[in-house]
Amino acid sequence: MKFEAIAVEKIPLIHKGDDLPSIICERIELQDRDIIVIASTIVAKAEGEIFKLEDIAPGEQALEIAARTGKDARFIQAVLSRSREVFVESPFMLVTTLAGHTCVNAGVDESNIEHGFLLYPPENPDASASKIGRELEKISGKKLSVIVTDTNGRAFKIGQTGVAIGIYKIKPIKRWIGEKDLFGKLLEITEQAIADEISGAANLLMGEGAGGVPVVIIRGLDYYYEGNASIKETYRPEDMDVIKKGLRCLRNKK
Ligand code: GDP
Ligand code: MN
Ligand code: MN
Repeated sequence: MKFEAIAVEKIPLIHKGDDLPSIICERIELQDRDIIVIASTIVAKAEGEIFKLEDIAPGEQALEIAARTGKDARFIQAVLSRSREVFVESPFMLVTTLAGHTCVNAGVDESNIEHGFLLYPPENPDASASKIGRELEKISGKKLSVIVTDTNGRAFKIGQTGVAIGIYKIKPIKRWIGEKDLFGKLLEITEQAIADEISGAANLLMGEGAGGVPVVIIRGLDYYYEGNASIKETYRPEDMDVIKKGLRCLRNKK
């Protein structure tokens, strides 16, 4: 058993309006069932989600949080403008984004963008993945899956990892419930986070710095799924999310 992870070489610096599917297809010959993993950074750049820090006018809530935490109110405003709920203000902003993804700073990024600019995450990463995926399929004539990734921390461990924030034609979760283990016992709980695991694998080639590798092809895994898929399938239902409940308790006590 094996699979390949292939960095797409020589992708230029991406700007607003750039045609990512063409840029990718000019640089690599895609095959049926390839999984195209794309860093959200370049999706955001192509979608023009680039803002000048000095142009951002902080609102009341941003000013309050800035006063409490000593952080730049404009950056906080950027985060709030993409958040539906704030769980933690300091030492970092932990929020749920408008798209439903829970992460630090709503994915607003100051790295791999010119000085003085902020990159907001793609507004609807599932829609971005679908749009790019359909175009890639049209150009290449192949059956493809797409994952848009970002780098996220983990709740209980040091170190960040690539995670999926938008998907196209891939089931993000593999359910093992009802399958047997090596000793014939029925598995009762395990759901494998396929899309995140693939994102983590691809991120090994992307890295986080000046590597210039925002697109990785995963070849040899068969997770192609013809139907509609959404990363929202992986967000834990509110009533089962004990961690969010705990964070709300802490927040509301203050
Ligand atoms: P994120 O995880 O989506 O926030 O993206 P990162 O900022 O960690 O970047 C992931 C990879 O993409 C790194 O190898 C970066 O050097 C690369 N990268 C970011 N922007 C660009 C770009 O505009 N062009 C190219 N070629 N690479 C980029
Ligand atoms: Mn990021
Ligand atoms: Mn990253």
